[in-house]
Amino acid sequence: MKLRICHLYGNLMNTYGDNGNLLMLQHRAKKLGYEVETTLISLEEDFNPEEFDIVMFGGGQDYEQTVVAKDLQNKKDTLIEYIEDDGVVVAICGGFQLLGRYYVNASGERLNGISAIDVCTNGQFPNRLIGDVEIFNEEFGETYLGYENHIGRTYLGKNMKPLGKVVKGFGNNEEDHAEGCHYKNVFCSYFHGPILVRNQHLADRIIQTAAQRRHAKNA
Ligand code: GLN
Repeated sequence: MKLRICHLYGNLMNTYGDNGNLLMLQHRAKKLGYEVETTLISLEEDFNPEEFDIVMFGGGQDYEQTVVAKDLQNKKDTLIEYIEDDGVVVAICGGFQLLGRYYVNASGERLNGISAIDVCTNGQFPNRLIGDVEIFNEEFGETYLGYENHIGRTYLGKNMKPLGKVVKGFGNNEEDHAEGCHYKNVFCSYFHGPILVRNQHLADRIIQTAAQRRHAKNA
C-alpha cells in the first residue's frame, strides 16, 4: 500500500527542524512496509482531499504565518472536508495555530485561521514559552517529550481535547495544563524536536491510523 503525504507549505512553515517530522514519517512508513509518496503543496496550489493520507503542516515565524494565513483561506473548504472525513493531519506550532479560529500575532495583527479546530491563539505577551516539555495522553496511555518555543497562547474550545496533559513545561498556555489538540485524526502540538523523531510511538500511531483509513477506503 502507498501512503501519500502532503507537506503543506513545507517551503514556508518549517521552523526548528519541523521538516524532520516529514523525514520520520517517510522513514517509519517504509519500515512498517508502506510505500511513500510526498507532495509539497504551497501558495496558490489546490489541496485535493482525495489525493492524500497524511498532511504535515509545520511551524513558522509570524512573517511566514501572515503569508500562509491569507493563502490558506483558499484551501479552507477542502482541508475541512478532509479533516471531517477522518483525514490524518500533523500540525505543529504555527500550523496548529492556523488550523484554529485565529492567531493574534506579536504585533497585534489578527490572522484568521480556518476554524477546522475550535481553538484560538493570542500572541501579545512580553515573554515566549521556551523549554523542555512532557505531556501524557490519557486516551492512549502514552507520554510524549519535546521542546517548545512560542509566543502564542492557545485556548481550546469546550469540545476540544488536548494532545496531552502537561507534566512538565508550559503547553498551550501557562494556565490550563493542556498541550496541543487531538480532534478526530488531527494531531496538533507546540512540540518541536521534532515531535515525531523524539516520539516514535506517536509517528507509528499516525502512520497506522492513516493506513487503516486508506485500507477502509480501498475496500
Ligand atoms: N509565531 C508563532 C509563535 O511564536 C509560531 C512559532 C512557531 O511555529 N515556532 O507563537
